[in-house]
Amino acid sequence: MENKTGRIARINLTTGKVENENSTDYYKWLGGRGYGVKVIFNEVKKETDPLSEDSKIVIAAGCFTGTSIPGSSRINIISKNVLNNGISYSSGGGDFAPALKKAGFDALIIEGKAEKPVYLYVSDGRILIKDAAGVWGKTTWDTEDEIRTELKNDKLKIAAIGPAGENLSKVACVIIDKAHAAAWGGCGAVMGSKNLKAVVANDANDYEISMFDSNKFDKECKRYKWILSASVPASNLKRVGTHGTAGAGGLTGKAPTSVRNSLDEYWDPEKNEKVVEKSYKQYEKKRVTCFNCPIACLHSYEMEYNGEIVEGVGMHANSVRGFSSNWDVDDPAAVFKAHTLCNKYGLDVDGTSSTIAWAIECFESGIIDTNDTFGAQLKWGNADEFLKLIEDMAYRRGFGEILSEGVFKASQIIGRNSIENTMQVKGVGINEQSLRTHKAWSLGIAISTRGSGHVSAAPQTEKRGIPSEIGEWLFDCPEAGIPTSYKGKGKLVAWYEIYKAIVDSIGICYFNAGWYEFTLADISYYAEFYNALTGMNMSNEEMWDIGERIVNLEKAINTVYAGFTREDDYLPKRIMEIPVSDGPYKGELMEREKYDEMLEEYYDAHGWDTATGLQKPETLKRLELEEVISFLSN
Ligand code: SF4
Repeated sequence: MENKTGRIARINLTTGKVENENSTDYYKWLGGRGYGVKVIFNEVKKETDPLSEDSKIVIAAGCFTGTSIPGSSRINIISKNVLNNGISYSSGGGDFAPALKKAGFDALIIEGKAEKPVYLYVSDGRILIKDAAGVWGKTTWDTEDEIRTELKNDKLKIAAIGPAGENLSKVACVIIDKAHAAAWGGCGAVMGSKNLKAVVANDANDYEISMFDSNKFDKECKRYKWILSASVPASNLKRVGTHGTAGAGGLTGKAPTSVRNSLDEYWDPEKNEKVVEKSYKQYEKKRVTCFNCPIACLHSYEMEYNGEIVEGVGMHANSVRGFSSNWDVDDPAAVFKAHTLCNKYGLDVDGTSSTIAWAIECFESGIIDTNDTFGAQLKWGNADEFLKLIEDMAYRRGFGEILSEGVFKASQIIGRNSIENTMQVKGVGINEQSLRTHKAWSLGIAISTRGSGHVSAAPQTEKRGIPSEIGEWLFDCPEAGIPTSYKGKGKLVAWYEIYKAIVDSIGICYFNAGWYEFTLADISYYAEFYNALTGMNMSNEEMWDIGERIVNLEKAINTVYAGFTREDDYLPKRIMEIPVSDGPYKGELMEREKYDEMLEEYYDAHGWDTATGLQKPETLKRLELEEVISFLSN
């Protein structure tokens, strides 16, 4: 039995000190998100401002990252959530995370604040803090290009912030290899607050990922790959990317989507037709993939907007709906331009979409006018104005100064009851679809510990309409595939939440790990891989317990640091009050009483108090989280 330790670097940017640590916690928490959340829980206090020198940010690959498992590409960035003082975690793809491992480290704990802008150069088991004066102020793309030129190595893998992170926009993110966003909780601003422009990984020296039993690992991997290669949903994703999925109206554009700041979920079919995946086919240059991923879900497009050539990669479904139906924009080039601006400036797509959508609704309803917007006519569909606002958010210029705070804080600054127009939960903006129509999906977004977003706990089962036998077999929920049914959905969401915490920690892309191919949403694969990798003998149940522990740590951080209660597990009122106006789900909305029941079932599935949603000591004891009991009671 070999109990491996994680190779961790602790970098203090105030002192310039870099220390290597071996941490048994890394494998104990599976790496990635689990490890990072544990560090934040242990080391960052309630009163610590997420953007202060005392704050910390963890950049952690998963324990399977960089292995032969398909999609083993993910990095997780964990910190306090800039938008609400609770927890934040963000998963990003590309080649950066495997490169970090090959450069010698599983995770970086970054603390302090550099006196001047710097970037970290990770290579051959060492970390250098290098001067970033030359790239400060540059876009993420220019930053990557210039660092590669400076270091004379065009193969470097880079995670960088753009002007939004430097200017501490609360919706700033980290962009990896020009295409992949780790985009939640203002993690780009946390880096910016530390004067940290980028982390650069050089994988040339190839630190081996030591394997206890490589034969067993490879054998398991073959089986996994075979299932993935035979998977119809995975091959559909390969064909159309997330752009062609229900997240962006589906292939036909008829799936429920976010329309005009989620005032509706039905969009004019003629408009929708212009932004569906097939309408972009003529602009596709190639497909792009992440490390060791056979799916290659990312489109690279080249388009023309107002006479300017726009090139970019990685427009996922959330960019499509966020910059089209959510703003009522039906110009495909404008939608793509908005996406590329967010990538270059380092802005989170969901935070940007939801904040500008709120501003448009406020303008249209007369809450704000051109005196507030510095002259901008924020009418639905007025793409030129919205594109200017994206830039202003990144540079905190004009009205962008307020918008850069994110939708919740912006509404507090404006006042005038504009909070009624916010699409946010736990202070984090919502750019989502199917909130009225797909009940478990909606609940999964409402309860997410990082605030909003569907890739925390929202199940994919309803979108795919899985048969009742499969729902019963996999999730003990026969109605898992029926969108409008509330039955068993609380339990289903709790299952997905725990499962995703594991996936984010092991470092596999969710799209490979069961999000599309349900038979791979099976913990036994990952326990087998783990045992082959580490030489330990972890059971499925023990791995599941780790997932539960991660969710419980996050929940406790949110309760104590952010002061969240049951009231923070509800979506904005419009979801319960304004029904879908037309289409196959005409008249559908979330019924309050049934939502309450679903929420209570969700709490119960986690072993939390059904009335308050708070964690129960007996549950925390079962999970051996006694430290959380005292944390909650202090
Ligand atoms: S499915 Fe897409 S996002 Fe996931 S690893 Fe593959 S290319 Fe990257």
